[in-house]
This record gives sequence, C-alpha cells and structure tokens, in this order.
Amino acid sequence: MQSTDPINSYVIVGGGTAGWISAAILARTLQNTTAKMTVVESPHIPTIGVGEATIPSIVDLVEFLNIPLHDFILKTNATFKLGIKFIDWQQKNHHYWHPFGYIGNKIDGKPFYQHWLKYNKNNGNLNFTDFSPAIALAKQNKFFVADPKYPTNLSSSTYALHFDAGLVAEYLQQYCKQHNVIHIQAHVKTTQLNNQGEISHVVLDNAQQIAGDFFIDCSGQKALLIQKALRVGYRNWQHFLPVDKAIAVQSNKQEILKPYTESTAHEHGWRWQIPLQNRTGNGYVFSSDFCNVQEAINVLENNVQNWITDPKTITFTTGQREKTWYKNCLAVGLSAGFLEPLESTSIYLIMKTMLNFVKNLPRQKIYPATTNEFNRLVDKEYEDIRDFIILHYCETKRTDSPL
Ligand SMILES: Cc1cc2nc3c(=O)[nH]c(=O)nc-3n(C[C@H](O)[C@H](O)[C@H](O)COP(=O)(O)OP(=O)(O)OC[C@H]3O[C@@H](n4cnc5c(N)ncnc54)[C@H](O)[C@@H]3O)c2cc1C
Repeated sequence: MQSTDPINSYVIVGGGTAGWISAAILARTLQNTTAKMTVVESPHIPTIGVGEATIPSIVDLVEFLNIPLHDFILKTNATFKLGIKFIDWQQKNHHYWHPFGYIGNKIDGKPFYQHWLKYNKNNGNLNFTDFSPAIALAKQNKFFVADPKYPTNLSSSTYALHFDAGLVAEYLQQYCKQHNVIHIQAHVKTTQLNNQGEISHVVLDNAQQIAGDFFIDCSGQKALLIQKALRVGYRNWQHFLPVDKAIAVQSNKQEILKPYTESTAHEHGWRWQIPLQNRTGNGYVFSSDFCNVQEAINVLENNVQNWITDPKTITFTTGQREKTWYKNCLAVGLSAGFLEPLESTSIYLIMKTMLNFVKNLPRQKIYPATTNEFNRLVDKEYEDIRDFIILHYCETKRTDSPL
C-alpha cells in the first residue's frame, strides 16, 4: 500500500468473539461505503470457547449494531446479569457484591458514599452495597428493565448479559453477512510484508492471497499478525496476577436462574459460575505453581454437579501487547492481551478497542500521533482493569493458602 492510497479494504484474521465483534463494528460503521471487509477463519483451529459474562456496555454494543435486544437474547441463550457475587474472597463464609448501576442517590447534591461514610463512622451497620438496587433485585433472583418514563428507586440498576459465546459468534456472523462482509474459511499459512514493513497480504492454505489496506489480528493467543509477522512484544504481568490456567466445564441449567455471576475463591484460585437459559458455565482459574490440572478438576468435581461436557484446560499468560495498533495492524481480543476474567472485562476490551478504532479510522495515511494516542488510551484501560483485579487479591484476609 502506498501512503497516499485510500484505506478501503480490511482483513480480519480470526472468527472468534473478537473477530466477529470487530467485523460487526466495522460493517456497521462502514455501511453504505465502498469499503471491503473480509473475515478469514481457520477451519482447523477452534475458538477458545469461553467468555460468557459481560458488563453493561454489551447492551450498548447491541444497540450500536442496531440489533433488537430481545432477538439477541433469545438466539444466544442469554440471561440478565446484575453484578457479581464474590464468595469466600475476603474470608471464608463471607461474601461481597460488585453490583452494576448506581448505589444510593445524591443527597443535598453530595454523592451518596459521602453520607454513607459518615453513617458508617457513627456506627451504622448497613453495608454500602445494601443501598444498591441491583443487589436488592439479585438477592431475590429478580430482574426488571427500568422504564425511563416511569422512574422508581430501582431505575438506577443497570444490567449486562451472560451468553453462549459460540452462539454470539454465529449471530454476529449472520449479521456481518447481511452487511456485506466476506467470510473465508481457510487457514492463514504466512503473512507477507511490503517494503515499509506493513502487512500487504496473507497467504492461505488453499494458495489464495488475501490483500488488504488494514489488518485486524483476531487470531487469539497465536497473535499471527501482530506478533508473528510484525514482532510486537508482550508485557507479561504474571508477577502481578499469578493465575495461568483454567478448567472450564458446562453443567445442567440452574433450576432458578440467578441474575448474577458467582465468583468463589478457593485455595489456589477462584471458580466462576455463569447461568444461561439452557445450561450453566463453570470454570476454575488457578495458578499452576500451586495446583496441578487434576487437583483443579477435583475442585470442580467437588463443587459442580451434573456435568454435561468434558473439562477443558486453557493455559494463558496474563499481560498486554506492547502496541495494540502497529503500522497497518490492530490487535483485538486475546492477540492484544489477557486479564483473568474476574470482572468479565475481555469482551468489553474488544468492543472498546474497536469502537475507539472506528472513531480514528485512517483514511489514507496512518499518522504516528494517532496510533500513539490510541495505544496510550488502550494501555490505560488495560492497566486500570489490571489494578482493579489486583485489588480483589489485596483485599483478602485469607491466610489458608500461599496464593
Ligand atoms: C478461562 C477464560 C474465561 C473467560 N471468561 C470471559 C468472560 O467471562 N467474559 C469475557 O468478557 N471474556 C472472557 N474471556 C475472554 C474471552 O474468551 C476472549 O476474550 C474472547 O473469546 C476472544 O477470543 P478471541 O476471539 O480473541 O480468540 P479465539 O476465540 O481463540 O479465536 C481465534 C480465532 O482465530 C482463528 N485462527 C487462529 N489461527 C488462525 C490461522 N492460522 N488462520 C486463520 N484463522 C486462525 C481461529 O480459527 C479462531 O477463529 C475468558 C477467557 C478465558 C481464557
């Protein structure tokens, strides 16, 4: 690509959650233009197959894509999520909540937490989160969508979704096809660079060459473009957050669907439980320095009944790509980094990265000032989330295990 040519064709490598969310955001943004968008997905490499809990911005994404929310919910087996219940984290037989939405209302123009701090200092015995509408609903396994026309005390609760990641990818794939995205099922064998060190095309195992002006690397942990071809390094954060493996297993659906994610702390990590309409997603995230795979499976066996799948082991390195946007390539999803899913933030990072990207969509030349500022903002998102996750471990008073 010459620097004066228009940037008009986008190639997305990878058809997991990141690939299809990226393609859908691009397709929506570039509808009614001549832009060409292609998703290349390997038929040989499965998607990671987890990633089922979200934060409220997912609802904004569905709206941005102009998708009817009820249709999305029905077709992805989604349930509503009002927050996360952290069990045994601070100490055993104790729990705390991270609810969505506001907690308390302003009084005399001052934030509610200021009043609560004063109340607490004067020996008040109610927790701050006792004033959260989302928790009040969650505790009773209830849910409602607030009608802005009729505000009530519960109106300030917001919600996210739990869903089947595979069905979400399928749903967005259909959406993309309706929005003129080309889908190629083939394996990328090599990536070719031009003499400016930018990606010119990818070569597929059927010998086809797919050229593009801009490439989006959604190839998951393989990071085919950003790392393998462009050699952008990775910031390893395992010294901050030592968990590095997960076992995921699905079980029968809950009799009463809980409108929240559960995160239960164990000796060597923590366990998630995510209710869907038709089944429950479970997993144990742990540090392999302290626990082997069989011991982790035992933890799941002792705590989760009625498995409907075999356990699946996933290994990861917590960290972030040194540059998310480099030359004519943007890394999105696992190729860009990974933080343990304690606050369900990976899909948020996918959509945030892409929504920021389409705001800065380069027309011809890619300016270093744009990529530098873009990368600075992405770094801040990752670091803020990283520090928030670290806080959960700092707050624990448990001393029953080295982790
Ligand atoms: C244990 C665990 C739990 C998680 N839980 C959550 C959660 O609750 N909430 C949340 O938001 N996120 C969660 N995540 C993160 C979430 O799963 C990922 O961010 C998300 O699925 C994005 O994955 P991806 O699309 O980047 O990669 P993948 O799903 O791995 O997809 C990679 C794609 O690249 C393709 N590919 C690879 N190589 C080639 C090639 N050579 N040629 C062509 N195509 C290729 C593959 O075929 C595949 O389509 C979790 C992650 C883990 C590990």
